[in-house]
Amino acid sequence: MPPLIAISAPLRADHGALRVRLNAGYARAVERAGGVPMLVPPLDRPADAERILDAADGLLLTGGEDVEPARYGAAPHPSVTDTSAARDATELALVHAARARGRPVLAICRGIQILNVAFGGTLVQDIPSQRAGALAHDAGEDRAAARVHAVRVEPGSRLAAALGAAALDVNSFHHQAADRPAPPLRVVATAPDGIIEGLEWNEPGWWAVAVQWHPEELDGPAETGLFRDFVARAAARA
Ligand code: MN
Repeated sequence: MPPLIAISAPLRADHGALRVRLNAGYARAVERAGGVPMLVPPLDRPADAERILDAADGLLLTGGEDVEPARYGAAPHPSVTDTSAARDATELALVHAARARGRPVLAICRGIQILNVAFGGTLVQDIPSQRAGALAHDAGEDRAAARVHAVRVEPGSRLAAALGAAALDVNSFHHQAADRPAPPLRVVATAPDGIIEGLEWNEPGWWAVAVQWHPEELDGPAETGLFRDFVARAAARA
């Protein structure tokens, strides 16, 4: 039975209506890897995340707004204007429900940030103004933009195994990043400027892997391998 993958999705104002709107690349990547995508909007009742993870075999956390800095005990930087309390609450509940059930989690972009915050980690709120000398990590709105910076992946990590690579070039659409990782999350990928590009759960019993770049927008063997490994782990329990 193909595994059911819950995918967190944002709300966006569009032509006078509030719509659940997600880049199709996430759902297509899940389908290409053999999974069945199931979108989860921000919930009125975040506790319903428990019911969703009863049903779903895996959880994919996606890109989007900044996490509210109060969630990690920080005052907001002036650049932090696009936030969603409902999405934060929903995704935090989804993460904890997945953790409680041992459901595999793949977290992308905002996903690596919410995963870190869920376990007590902090974020760099604005790379350009807070990390002097950092590379350009926000390539703008061109989703087809090419691989703009290198990433070094920790040999022997779950991420390296899934990617089948210890170094690769990636795309980059973010102005924030994980700062202090929340143990037992550990840093498993970094850009040449030291910005964290990958985290994973460093204890047995839960496959939770997070990347700051957007593998759903790329179709190289490493990105395909990452989605295939995630979906296969979800399938193992389906
Ligand atoms: Mn980057």
